[in-house]
Amino acid sequence: MPVRIRRILVLQMAGVVLLALMAGFALRFALNRLDGDGAAPAGGAAGVAAVSLAGRTIVLDPGHDGGNSGAGAVINRLVPAGGFDKECDTVGAQTAAGYPEHAFTFDLAQRTAVILRARGARVVLTRGDDTGVGPCIDQRARTGNDLRAAAVVSIHADGGPVTGRGFHVIAPALSPDKANATILAPSTRLAGALRTAFGAATGLPLADYLGREGMTIRSDLGGLNLSRVPKVFLECGNMSNSTDAAALVEPAWRARAATGIADGLTAFLREGGTAGAAPPD
Ligand SMILES: [Zn+2]
Repeated sequence: MPVRIRRILVLQMAGVVLLALMAGFALRFALNRLDGDGAAPAGGAAGVAAVSLAGRTIVLDPGHDGGNSGAGAVINRLVPAGGFDKECDTVGAQTAAGYPEHAFTFDLAQRTAVILRARGARVVLTRGDDTGVGPCIDQRARTGNDLRAAAVVSIHADGGPVTGRGFHVIAPALSPDKANATILAPSTRLAGALRTAFGAATGLPLADYLGREGMTIRSDLGGLNLSRVPKVFLECGNMSNSTDAAALVEPAWRARAATGIADGLTAFLREGGTAGAAPPD
């Protein structure tokens, strides 16, 4: 075949491939339009994952610490908790098989930090390992305050009744010293965003043994009373319940849980703290 004709054939084939690609793209675009209005999905993981968190500081507070159980004198001493004094820290819960809450929260915080950093956020943890003691609850709160964090999530797992299932978020009520008033509304919105995203990512039900629709509002937690930036506690499941525990001990489940926390934080920050769930009454 003459070189010139071969060149024309090659060019024609390239044209056909290009046309096929364009047709495929047009079809996909049309289907997307049919799906909705072409906008990014409202609360879906794909939508929030595309949001850049550059310039935002997020503090993750993994509850308890690996050294707490051997340091009673340190963690039992009283520290200011927002109008009253409370123990510096506690040992935390564990599953029936002995998987401790401090290990769970530290693992989950690290996984969540990786995801949020990939989205551009500056992420600071309140403790850098799982072998220390504390820090005390007032110091944990100070970390978020000093960094003027856009949001703080204290990560926990509950030690509830054996028959109780599910996860819940804890939003702040007005502290006894009335010093956390400015964070109440945005924290409740953060709680709502986390509740939605965490449930969607993990499939865990809302807690059936306390609160209302997976949320409680409390004024007895120093970590919430002392915060001056939006902050909630997330109780990721009930370690005392065998069904919940079977999920919490699974690394693959914790990977999904981390995505849920990151998605909840991302949704809250994307909305600029101006939208979210109403508090339970
Ligand atoms: Zn805890």
